This record gives sequence, C-alpha cells and structure tokens, in this order.
Amino acid sequence: MTATLLDGKAIAKTMQAEIDAAVAEFKEKTGITPTIAVVRAGEDPGSVWYAGAIKKTMAARGMEAQLHVLPETASQEELVALVARLNADPTVHGIMVQEPMPKGVDEGAVKAALSPDKDVDGVHEVNAGRLAMAAPAGRPAGVGPFFVPATPAGGLELMRRYGVEFNGQNAVVLGRSNIVGKPMALLLMRENATVTICHSRSKDLPAICRGADILCVAVGRAEMVRGDWIKPGAVVVDFGVNEVEGKMVGDVAYAEAVEVAGLITPVPGGTGPMTNVMLCLNVLEAARRQVR
Ligand code: NDP
Repeated sequence: MTATLLDGKAIAKTMQAEIDAAVAEFKEKTGITPTIAVVRAGEDPGSVWYAGAIKKTMAARGMEAQLHVLPETASQEELVALVARLNADPTVHGIMVQEPMPKGVDEGAVKAALSPDKDVDGVHEVNAGRLAMAAPAGRPAGVGPFFVPATPAGGLELMRRYGVEFNGQNAVVLGRSNIVGKPMALLLMRENATVTICHSRSKDLPAICRGADILCVAVGRAEMVRGDWIKPGAVVVDFGVNEVEGKMVGDVAYAEAVEVAGLITPVPGGTGPMTNVMLCLNVLEAARRQVR
C-alpha cells in the first residue's frame, strides 16, 4: 500500500484564495490593512529568513508585515519596551517575537509582555491557557477568544480538509513543546481523539506509535520514526524540519512510512505551507477582533 499525500502545498493554495477574499472584504469594509509586527534581536540566520518569508507571505495576501530589528546586544527591558509600544500601536494587529532571543533575556518575560489580543503566535500564557481550558469542539468553548500556534493549527486543518476522523481515534503526539507538540495534543483532544503525548523520557516509542491511528511528530530528529513504527493505514503528520546533507527531511523516514501509512505529509510541502496560511489567518482574525 502506498499512502495518499496530505498535500499541504495544495491545501495552502486553496486556503490562500479564501484568505485573499476575506482580506479584501475586511479592507473594503474598514479601510484598514491587517498588519503583523515581527520583532527580533540580532541576525540569527533562521530568524532572518523566516521574517523575510513572513513579509513576502503577508504581502501576497494583501496584508502587511513590519520588521523591527534590535541589535544582538538588546536587553530584556528594550525588548519589553518595544513590545509595549507595539501593543499600544493601533495600526499593529499582531506581534511575533522571534527566537532565539539574546543571551540573558528571559524569553518568558518578553512573551508575557505581549498583549494576548495581538499574540498571533499563541505563545502568551493567556492563549495557551485558554486552549488548555477550552471545551471539546462543538460545545460552547467556555473561555474567551484565543490564538493557537500556527504550526499545530495547520496540522489539524490539513487533516480536516482530507476528512480525517478524529472522534475516538487513538492519536499519538511525539514532542511536547509549547509551540507544536503540546498544542497539537490539546487540539486533537478537543476533537475527541484519545491522545498520548510522548517525549524524550518516554519508553518504547515504537510500541506506542504502533497503536496510533493518528501520529503527529515534532521532535526535531531526522527520520527518527521508522516505517515499522507505523500502524498500517494510519494518518502521519510530520512537523520535523531537519537538514541532512543539504536536503530537508522530516522526523519520519518518509520512504519507509509512505509504504505503510494511509495518509502522510511530505517534507517539504506538508506542514510547512500550512503554518504560513494559519499565521495569515491569525493576523486577519486579530485585526477583526481589534477593529470594530
Ligand atoms: P523542541 O526542541 O522544542 O521540542 C522537541 C520535543 O521532542 C521535546 O518535547 C523533546 O522531549 C522531544 N524529543 C526530542 N528527542 C526525542 C527523542 N529521541 N524521543 C522522544 N522525544 C524526543 O522542538 P519544536 O517542537 O519547536 O519543533 C519540533 C520539530 O518541528 C523541529 O524539527 C522543528 O524544526 C519543527 N517545526 C516545524 C514547523 C513547521 O512549520 N513545520 C514549525 C515549528 C517547528 P523533551 O520535552 O523531553 O525534551
């Protein structure tokens, strides 16, 4: 059996057209361009590349990205002051503070300085807390509005658009970071999956993974998940981005997994493009909430 691709590139393209229409409507109604401010300190190559990619992505959707770059020597106070200024700026609807932050800066303190209403990256504890406390999908959420980090939100949306059934399914999430693994697990639980979360101290990962109808992987270890870890017919979502000999590979050994899984994301072209569109959606949503 060869798996069907969870084609993030194709779904992202469809969603881009949907976002373009929604942005055009918003701009016509309000005269306002949804805008994200991307903050970084220093010139970490990955952050520089990502900020440029966000600027291009936003522009293509009729939105705006401002880049605010502080020197690598920036202090926590300077970063917090910049965030406070952007919080108070009504022309800025979303704020993302890129990591890594300079040595000596308490990243948690900078994230806590964000206005939760502008935290389109979903890193503020109010947003993370509301996701954790939100009732299962289909019931009144019981919490205020919140933003979900774009990467797991994109993984869920990709599965949804392929008609993946979540209800009562066994889902395994490898990785428990605040930006991918943990929110992915919470999203799957909200969709009524039975969720197991694994991490570096988990025992016998292959056996746990073999029980998964849905396997989401975010560990940052090139091709760690082998084909024989996968239950035949399972849905496999690979968030991993690793460079091996100049080539981008995921956390799943794709060539093996594609022979076993029912649905699988390629790397690249799976979860990556979905992250971009979900960030656009979060910025549009932030603007909608702030502009009345
Ligand atoms: P983190 O390094 O923050 O978290 C990795 C998680 O994997 C941790 O929970 C860690 O466990 C766990 N882990 C590490 N090694 C093992 C192991 N050998 N066995 C079991 N668990 C392990 O990474 P992120 O969550 O930020 O990112 C994960 C991957 O997703 C990376 O490849 C990253 O590049 C990619 N990524 C992709 C995005 C996209 O758009 N597709 C966006 C963001 C990230 P413990 O908690 O015990 O340390």
